Amino acid sequence: MQEGAPVVLGLDVGGSSVKHLLASARASLDTPPKPLDRGRHATPKSSPVEGLAAIASSLRGDADLERVVLSIPGLVDEAAGVVVRSTNIPALDGRPLGAQLSAELGIPVDVINDGHAAAVAEASWGAGAGVDDVFVLALGTGIAGAHVAHGQVVPGAHGSAGELGHITIEPEGSICSCGRRGCLETIIGAPALRRAWVAVGGTGGPEGLLAAHSAGDAAATVIVERASSALAEAILTLCALVDPGCIVIGGGLAQAPHQLVTLAERYVGERASFHRVPPIVPATLGEWAGANGTVLTALRRR
Ligand SMILES: [Zn+2]
Repeated sequence: MQEGAPVVLGLDVGGSSVKHLLASARASLDTPPKPLDRGRHATPKSSPVEGLAAIASSLRGDADLERVVLSIPGLVDEAAGVVVRSTNIPALDGRPLGAQLSAELGIPVDVINDGHAAAVAEASWGAGAGVDDVFVLALGTGIAGAHVAHGQVVPGAHGSAGELGHITIEPEGSICSCGRRGCLETIIGAPALRRAWVAVGGTGGPEGLLAAHSAGDAAATVIVERASSALAEAILTLCALVDPGCIVIGGGLAQAPHQLVTLAERYVGERASFHRVPPIVPATLGEWAGANGTVLTALRRR
């Protein structure tokens, strides 16, 4: 790296690891910048502010670091730079992380939600590039969503828009982590699929279920068809409310073989009425989507 060249740093803080991406502050906003450096660190859980400051300082080296953006799993007051609640890193709860790191490092530091970071990156630099109105859906342990219009997440009045995992699919269904019944997550989230598969004697978790479905197993087919049907209903609701120009689906459960998604897409086609169903495409930035989103945010705000 050229000594003294202006750079920005993105830190994607996860429950177990922190991914970093260092990019030139003069990088183009049109395409993902070639990272000057990227890597992983263990998440500092007991003193996260000091630990994250140490990571940023060690990466700074001789470079002219202009801005740091961190993405955090959990509820974040992005305007204030405060972590409201993080299930994975409880020591961050209520901390004014942006202000504290900014004081440590002497430069602006922003804090954003990790799902929002991944969504802006996919919408601008990934599978949604070139489309003005993109909905990004992550299928994993939970189901996260974000509507990105003209490159910006539409957060809603309280920052919680896009929670597609908690729309009701089965009003009399099982209890969800949110306390309500029959949310999408109770049917297609990874724990829900695992539970349904174990209940019929299946092994190997959601991956085992999908493999058995591919092999034509009847019990696996019932579970996968129910999950895909639920996802299809959620997508139709999404189209009715948001009318996106593209739906990007990522997350652990959407990786190939992603028959959950292809089957859902078929059901959506069969069930749509007035809905304008946009292309439903797989995410392309993979596990670096969040880190790319932090760098993109840093480049935009400098
Ligand atoms: Zn719920």
